[in-house]
Order: sequence, then C-alpha cells, then structure tokens
Amino acid sequence: MPPTAPPLKWGLIGASDIAKTRMIPAIRSRPDSTIAAVLSSSAERATSYAAENSIPRGYHDLDEFLQDPEIDVVYISTTNELHASQAIAAAKAGKHILSDKPLALTLADAEAMVKTAKEKGLVFGTNHHLRNAVTHRTMRRLIKEGAIGKPLAARVFHAVYLPPRLQGWRINRPEAGGGVILDITVHDADTLHFLLDDDVEDVVARSAQQGLSHGDLADAVMGVMYFRNGTLAMFHDAYTIKHAQTGLEVHGTDGSLIAKNIMTQDPVGEVFLSRNGVVSEVALGEPEDLYIHIVRHFHEAVEGRGQPFVTGEDGIRSLAVGLAVEESAKTGQRTPVRYKT
Ligand code: NDP
Repeated sequence: MPPTAPPLKWGLIGASDIAKTRMIPAIRSRPDSTIAAVLSSSAERATSYAAENSIPRGYHDLDEFLQDPEIDVVYISTTNELHASQAIAAAKAGKHILSDKPLALTLADAEAMVKTAKEKGLVFGTNHHLRNAVTHRTMRRLIKEGAIGKPLAARVFHAVYLPPRLQGWRINRPEAGGGVILDITVHDADTLHFLLDDDVEDVVARSAQQGLSHGDLADAVMGVMYFRNGTLAMFHDAYTIKHAQTGLEVHGTDGSLIAKNIMTQDPVGEVFLSRNGVVSEVALGEPEDLYIHIVRHFHEAVEGRGQPFVTGEDGIRSLAVGLAVEESAKTGQRTPVRYKT
C-alpha cells in the first residue's frame, strides 16, 4: 500500500456468523483497515453484536448506516434475499461493495447490483472464497501451463455436514434463498469457471431432502455441468454428509489433478498430479487465509490497483449456474444456463 493511502473503513451489513468468524478477523489482520459500524435488522442485536465484536457503532436503520461518513466500504452478509436491495442502496450512497454469495435470488437483481456500482464508479466484489486458496490457484496455473493437457472432466465433492449453529434459514426459509444449491453449488460453479476458464453451457441435476431441510428446500444435490469446450463436471453438494472429506479432481488428455480436502474455508488440503502412472504431490506456495486474500485484493482494487479477486460479473455467472441447477432439479430437464436476463 502506498504510504499516503488512508485506512479503509468498513461497515458490516449483517450481524452474521461469517462476518464474525471469518471477515472481521480478515479485515482486522490489515493495518490499513478499520471496522466502523455494523447494521442489523434488530436494534438489540446491533448493540450486542457491536459490543461483542468491538465495533464502535451498531445501527438498525439502513439509511442511517449508509449516511455514516466513517464508512467507505460495505461487506454484505445478510440472508440472500436482502443482498440486492442493500447493495443497490449502498452503491447509491457511494460505498464500495463486497457482497456475499449468492449475489441475489434472480439474475436481474444481481445484474442491477453490479450495474449500479459500476455506474457510480465503485468497486464491487463477490465473496466466493475458494478460488482465493493457494490450492485452487495452483491448480489453475498447472492447467493453464498444460500439465494435464486438455481438460475433459471434473469431479467436485463438496458435500459436508451443516454445523448445528447454521441450521436456520438455510434449511427452513425458502424466501431467504435457503437450500444447498444457492449456498454451495454456486461456489462449485465459481471454482470450476476459475480452473477451466470456461462457462457452463447447460446442467442436469437431481436434488433431495435427506433429513435436514424443510418445505421445498434441498439439503443435497448431484448433477452434471457441461462446459462450452466440452468438459463434463459432476458435482455433489450436501449439508448431510458427516464422514467424508471434500475433494476436487480435474482429468485431462495428458494427466489428472486430484485434490483432497480443498473445498473448505481453511487454507488446507493437498493436490496431486498424476501422469503416466506416476502420482506426485504438488508443491504449493505459502498458504494464506482465504478471507485475508479476498480483503487484500479488495483493498488494492479500491486503491485503483486491479480488481477484486472475484468480481461482480463472476458473482452473476455463478448465480446463473445455480439458478439453472435449481430449475433442472425441479423440472428434471437438461437446462441451459442463462447468463443474461
Ligand atoms: P447467519 O445466519 O449467521 O446470518 C445471517 C443473518 O441472520 C444475519 O444478518 C442476522 O440478521 C440474522 N441472525 C444471525 N444471528 C441471529 C440470531 N441469533 N437471531 C436472529 N437473527 C440472527 O448467516 P451466515 O453468516 O451463515 O451467512 C450469511 C451470508 O453469508 C449468506 O449470504 C451466506 O450465503 C454467506 N456465506 C458465505 C460464506 C463464504 O465463505 N463466502 C460462508 C458462509 C456464509 P441481522 O443482520 O438483521 O441481525
């Protein structure tokens, strides 16, 4: 950071678990960042969350929060149905935006979020964490360098057990954008796009209820994404799998990349390269906390250096895939991904 750059002051929209467990520590890891305020829909929770997390001010009115001159940047981590209206209001108030995923519940809303920020000359980033991991970045580099030849297939194992503290709106509030597809499959979509530099053309999917979710919400889904250059990717996303690690494999004409325990929030996991019957562990660079990596790139973008590591357009793209997977799971039909409304 140039020595003259002023510290970036963050406001948190949403008194959430992810802000508390990942983003507040990531923002505070930087000497050039402060957290000025938090917004909750409840005055009581705003006060208690601010106190518990040593945040100077707690608001429960969005307009008042956005008028706080001490806020340059907002991080949005409310439930999914609120991201769009909050991001658009923040952009109109001149705040840069880092929004959690899925950006919105419809493509039109996601596009409006990104467009409003762009029109105001503001930075907009999407909080997909996985591509920030050194494991994923290394796999992308190896694929680009031709280590596995032309990618033919990918397999994503992103089935986990939803921790009891998060067993709320995700499994019982469809109107909040709950369900495993908009929660986890969108991360797969972003990861695969990042690794393959390709877009999903269409999907087929089957979802299920395996004991956690209610109403129409799925707590498990499997499916196939077909990419424009012919790569087939299978995915398994769930809240119901207690005894397995995550994984990600990409298989090409000249080799395979096989990664274990890398669809996680922590900087962990191993990557192996298999070629001609020889399997070798890939040397990874220095692991960095995924959320610190997100915040670092976001700061640089606000300072006019580059763009967020995951842009608004990336968030629109992953949502488009998630919505196609939801539609396919409902209709039982192969469904094209509609990237534009
Ligand atoms: P939480 O359930 O922790 O928070 C979501 C909202 O629920 C909060 O904004 C808050 O509303 C409300 N809330 C939280 N605690 C309580 C409570 N005790 N009583 C009543 N209401 C409460 O959700 P997550 O942190 O798990 O997810 C938030 C967003 O972040 C989602 O969009 C999700 O998809 C995303 N996410 C992203 C991750 C990533 O790695 N990129 C990982 C996890 C989540 P209010 O603000 O009004 O107080």
